[in-house]
Amino acid sequence: MLLSRPFIQPEECLVSYLVRLSEQNGFNHVGNFLHYAGLKWKNNRAPIYQVLTGKFNVSSLLIDLGLSECQSKLTPIYSSFRKIIDTSSVIVKLPKVCPDCLEELGYCKYQWALLPVVVCSKHQKMLVDVSSTSGKRLSWYRHQLNRFDGEVNCIKPNASSVKPSLIEQSVYIESLISGVQSNRSIPVVLRGMSLREVLSLIHFIAHYQVRLVGNSFQPLAMKNQELGQLYKGVWDTLKAWPDSFYAMLEQYIDRPMSDKGQSGLNKHFRDLYERLHRQKENQGIARIKAEFDNFIEEYWPYALDPERITRIKLSSRTRNIISKKEAANILGSRIVRIDKLVQQGRLMQVFFQGKVYYKRNQVESLASEVSSNWTMVEACKALELTRYQLKQLLDAGIIPVLQKPGSLNRDWVINKSQCISFVEDLKKKSRQTEPPLGTTSMGGIQRIGYSIVELIFAMQRGDVEYSVSSEVKNHTSLKQFIAFKVNKIN
Ligand SMILES: [Zn+2]
Repeated sequence: MLLSRPFIQPEECLVSYLVRLSEQNGFNHVGNFLHYAGLKWKNNRAPIYQVLTGKFNVSSLLIDLGLSECQSKLTPIYSSFRKIIDTSSVIVKLPKVCPDCLEELGYCKYQWALLPVVVCSKHQKMLVDVSSTSGKRLSWYRHQLNRFDGEVNCIKPNASSVKPSLIEQSVYIESLISGVQSNRSIPVVLRGMSLREVLSLIHFIAHYQVRLVGNSFQPLAMKNQELGQLYKGVWDTLKAWPDSFYAMLEQYIDRPMSDKGQSGLNKHFRDLYERLHRQKENQGIARIKAEFDNFIEEYWPYALDPERITRIKLSSRTRNIISKKEAANILGSRIVRIDKLVQQGRLMQVFFQGKVYYKRNQVESLASEVSSNWTMVEACKALELTRYQLKQLLDAGIIPVLQKPGSLNRDWVINKSQCISFVEDLKKKSRQTEPPLGTTSMGGIQRIGYSIVELIFAMQRGDVEYSVSSEVKNHTSLKQFIAFKVNKIN
């Protein structure tokens, strides 16, 4: 008969409870204890994983020992995963604990047995699974619940600081398990998903982030700290969704699988596509797939040969990386201009199979930036200013510019939309009543000593009053401002 019969606590991990029973009744480890309880497993092993997942029910053994019947809290979570295998890894292989909780409560929480819970949400510290003294992993077969075997002191809490992303992730996973909504902000892309879907999305991205550096994602073999680093990367990706996901996929352009070049890249994207397609019932995977399809369609349409994959609809056959000559054609500039744009960081070079290319979307957006704004000549015409006056306003920083001439640029690019709002703003500040007697024209007020720069500043500050002429049809013209009168002498 047992010397000590503690009750299992509502949020206690069932295997940790068995470890606690074993310790309190003087057994060497949980395997010996279960052997005593009547389980005839070889070498006194304990069915740890089976107990955690509910495949093995220890209830009858516990009842024989005079203890109450109980089942693993992780069973329903595990079985929801088992129905559809989105990710094989949800439950840890080796235990991890929060030493502070353990000291306060005297037992281990069941949520620590879940891989994506890497932080204690109460104490905001990383869970501990490795001894800081010996470097050994914590074992389910330990002698005492709160000590590494062979160590005198209790398990020490992890002193390193915890990244907010990891706390967010752990709190969010816990809220999905408990069904109590977390108040913390969660990445929009995760809204409305089940735990199964969230975890498959997280692991899917983790897998491909690890693969970028040539490794494979094996969460069960990883230490909590390493897993935390990976999950942090994923959580940050989810927060900046979908741009971050595009950025991740783009990295494959520089590192097409092994040294296969474009065919490796195409194979990589085909694999990804196949994987996503097979699991599209899962909302998490479906959301990745939607963004994956967008990415391919927009940036890398050659990656998926429609002959080989008929499920994807490709609307365009244009390549997404182009040569320097093509880039110069799109921009309507000379070839040397492209180098200057690269120097300025406005165009990015892509190295692919030993050659330099440029991203079509980047070149096109630059071209549209130039064509949708004003050159000097266009601005003079629109504002009805002389080139000399415009230059003065540009130098004074009154007219907003996107590009100034210098060693890398020949021309000014004037911000058209901001220029229009600059004029609109002057219109708003104009006098709303009939002009008084004794006003003068714009030319007249400049003749009494206001330079064009001083005049605009005075108009903006309200130091001069003016009206807007209804006769000038050009809405961006500065000539529409008439009937000036000095309000205040500075
Ligand atoms: Zn804790």
